[in-house]
Amino acid sequence: MAERLTVAQFDLVILGGGSGGYACALRAAQLGKNVALIESGKLGGTCLHRGCIPTKALLHSGEIADSAREASTFGVNAQFLSMDMVAVNAYKDGVISKLHKGLQGLVKSRNITFVEGHGRLVSKDTVEVNGERYTGTNVVLATGSYAKSLPGLEIDGIRVMTSDHATNLTYVPKSVIVLGGGVIGCEFASVWKSFGAEVTIIEGLSHLVALEDESSSKQLERAYRKRGINFELGVRFKSHTVTADGVTVELEDGKTFSADVLLVAVGRGPVSANLGYEEQGITMDRGYVIVDDKCRTNVPGIWAVGDLIPTLQLAHVGFGEGILVAEEICGLSPRPINYDGVPRVTYSEPEVASVGLTTAQAKERGHDVVELNYDLAGNGKAQILRTAGSIKLVSQKNGPVLGIHMVGARVGELLAEAQLIFNWEATADDVAPLIHAHPTLSEAMGEAHMALAGKPLHAHG
Ligand SMILES: Cc1cc2nc3c(=O)[nH]c(=O)nc-3n(C[C@H](O)[C@H](O)[C@H](O)COP(=O)(O)OP(=O)(O)OC[C@H]3O[C@@H](n4cnc5c(N)ncnc54)[C@H](O)[C@@H]3O)c2cc1C
Repeated sequence: MAERLTVAQFDLVILGGGSGGYACALRAAQLGKNVALIESGKLGGTCLHRGCIPTKALLHSGEIADSAREASTFGVNAQFLSMDMVAVNAYKDGVISKLHKGLQGLVKSRNITFVEGHGRLVSKDTVEVNGERYTGTNVVLATGSYAKSLPGLEIDGIRVMTSDHATNLTYVPKSVIVLGGGVIGCEFASVWKSFGAEVTIIEGLSHLVALEDESSSKQLERAYRKRGINFELGVRFKSHTVTADGVTVELEDGKTFSADVLLVAVGRGPVSANLGYEEQGITMDRGYVIVDDKCRTNVPGIWAVGDLIPTLQLAHVGFGEGILVAEEICGLSPRPINYDGVPRVTYSEPEVASVGLTTAQAKERGHDVVELNYDLAGNGKAQILRTAGSIKLVSQKNGPVLGIHMVGARVGELLAEAQLIFNWEATADDVAPLIHAHPTLSEAMGEAHMALAGKPLHAHG
């Protein structure tokens, strides 16, 4: 005789407690809905435990190591001796743990039913976990993504690893090969170089961070060359051999590279296999759940958010989509997300940050494009920080700013203003009169718009 299953009824049953899932849960609960949030790992998901937060903590340790190396430039007697990875990991894990506890408290305080366990969609409105059934008027799929590898490239977590392993390394390798020059690859390359490793990036496309405006990629490449980070562009991985003391990689052009470890950072794929999605008739494409502009799947009452759907794989996109779904379910009719207006940052040294369209995209979409490059050399704070880089504006001729692309230390912080400019469709004339505090990096944003408006201050033109 089949075992009787308990059934609990909710307004929303959310499968996956990462950025997308928990944001949806928090907003829906705030709007008075009865919510179950199901998570097989840790609340907070990839971003908190294996992604954004640990990598940014490692990058910050790296920044301090670099500051120690460069201390004499600023008249400070200090010396870089070595990395203490036990202490680095304790610092990083402390940050994660504090945020994790805070999030657990938040979920509890909103009376969300948090269910620990592996869930599976067993009907159009029900998820089964640990032999119990959770039925929702709405089901939100938020199972996220995993680090992909290439055929034949087996991840052993020791010599050949993904970011999951790299965020918890207990030593600094002498040398590293980073396969993939996208955001994650470039961030780890930056971390390891700062920690003292010899780093080589292998990228099949013709640029690092190839989704960025080409000018940003070129500036990052220049900066990496200066830092002594090696890279091979436009050439693909062929094979690898793991030996007792390292790993050797052969490329399709015949070149070989050897290092202590190989980080595979070739992208992330959706977590959707064997979860019952296809069986319930949900439209999928290469494992991604397909949704409309309100994150609705083709099955009424089933929604999907975050890395599971083919939108930008960013934590704040997951937050936005989770909130969108909660508000749509609650009848608030939120506006669909304009994905062009999502801010993007590669938190390497230097940082690469952007919002809106690249020059190539703006032209493809038929805009009459004008460009303005403001070199950070003219910015007082950039000189104080000793950082190089620029702010590039892509604008419609006599129209709104279509894209803002930045390279330099701390430019990620400038996105707050950049995204307002883009999303409020401001023109250079709107921004030019706004007074920016001196001396800040944000002044460069003001100066760039002044120059585009035809009245440059600290720039030739
Ligand atoms: C190294 C790295 C660095 C990153 N840095 C940044 C950054 O700086 N900024 C940024 O915006 N983004 C960054 N990201 C991306 C960001 O982490 C993701 O976009 C974000 O976590 C996606 O959220 P999600 O909710 O869709 O998925 P996830 O965070 O992956 O959450 C999905 C959750 O679902 C759970 N789950 C899966 N299947 C089941 C099941 N069957 N039952 C129960 N639970 C299940 C998983 O355990 C997981 O916790 C980074 C990613 C990585 C890997």
